[in-house]
Amino acid sequence: MTQHTDVVVVGGGQAGLAAGYHLRRQGLDFVILDAEAAPGGSWQHMWDSLHLFSPAEHSSLPGRLMPAQPGETYPGAGHVVDYLADYEKRYDLPVQRGTRVDAVRRDADRLLVEADSGIWRARAVISATGSWSRPFLPAVPGRSVFTGRHLHTVNYRCPADFAGQHVIVVGGGNSGAQIAADLALDGHVEVTWVTQRPPRFLPDDIDGRALFDVATARRRALDAGRSDTGGVASLGDIVAVPPVRAARDAGLLQAKPMFARFTADGVQWADGSHTGADAVVWCTGFRPALSHLAPLNLRGARGHIPTDGTRALGEPRLHLIGYGDWTGPASATLIGVGRPARDAVREIAGLL
Ligand SMILES: Cc1cc2nc3c(=O)[nH]c(=O)nc-3n(C[C@H](O)[C@H](O)[C@H](O)COP(=O)(O)OP(=O)(O)OC[C@H]3O[C@@H](n4cnc5c(N)ncnc54)[C@H](O)[C@@H]3O)c2cc1C
Repeated sequence: MTQHTDVVVVGGGQAGLAAGYHLRRQGLDFVILDAEAAPGGSWQHMWDSLHLFSPAEHSSLPGRLMPAQPGETYPGAGHVVDYLADYEKRYDLPVQRGTRVDAVRRDADRLLVEADSGIWRARAVISATGSWSRPFLPAVPGRSVFTGRHLHTVNYRCPADFAGQHVIVVGGGNSGAQIAADLALDGHVEVTWVTQRPPRFLPDDIDGRALFDVATARRRALDAGRSDTGGVASLGDIVAVPPVRAARDAGLLQAKPMFARFTADGVQWADGSHTGADAVVWCTGFRPALSHLAPLNLRGARGHIPTDGTRALGEPRLHLIGYGDWTGPASATLIGVGRPARDAVREIAGLL
């Protein structure tokens, strides 16, 4: 059966909910289609010890401050899930769960949104599908000959799964540092941390609050035609959240440069030496989950869709939020997604 609505939001994580908040305020008819069975987007799937890199009040969506988590300066992922579940209830957001969108197509004066449970004809679409469903693994010689376990950030849960084992953690970003710290601090896992370039820790007094300010200042400078400040990347890559700081200060976070190749039972380094390993955790990032937009033929360089703000250059009825800075400064953060969501909905309201 085909249903009709003003706007379909694809994805019901934080970005989709922020869009829903603004669509409600504009009085537009809309539906949020989300592949998950439960609220919370990818926060439901984070590893057990993950905590935000900003305090609760600096991790809020529009309209409703995230309450503090008792006893925690930096809330855990479960607290974020509870907040998002409460948020969609509070604003009565029409989220249809267990619904995966396979394709968005042009159909005369409408966009046709094809999902596994039906078809929607919409006047505009907001894509907010995140990147969690597209983990990225780099090509490394011999990867398939390694007989140990390969995991990505998305599959990692807790150190107990590796008790007594040697684990190689690959990646010099926040996930790599945090997972290496999680395993190393446990004391029952031998950890080798591998990064492509020497790890760059941010100063200890910088957390997500400052990062948001830096990202916003960079965008303002670029918009005003001033020179690029370099943004967050100019400061470092790794937020020194408490466990990372503890592991670093205990000397447990000594990174090695990338190994040359896998062997059947471990890895071989550039100097020919060998380290045995039981598992490798790839903390090597994600790509935006955009396959449902393929029929629109909008892909540009690096797999992104070229945008002006949040609006797709090749399809003015399509907006993208979340994903990364290319859809707005700090668009892929809790506190940062509110502004692009507001801008997208304003433009859509103007269009309709
Ligand atoms: C390890 C890690 C730690 C992070 N820590 C922080 C932090 O401390 N603070 C912060 O602000 N940000 C943090 N982020 C960044 C960001 O806030 C999260 O990645 C956040 O989950 C992004 O929200 P989203 O709504 O864009 O995507 P998601 O949470 O991934 O939500 C997307 C939703 O879309 C659904 N979906 C996907 N494809 C389809 C489809 N075809 N049809 C229907 N539904 C679909 C998914 O099932 C999901 O429910 C972190 C990210 C990671 C990976």
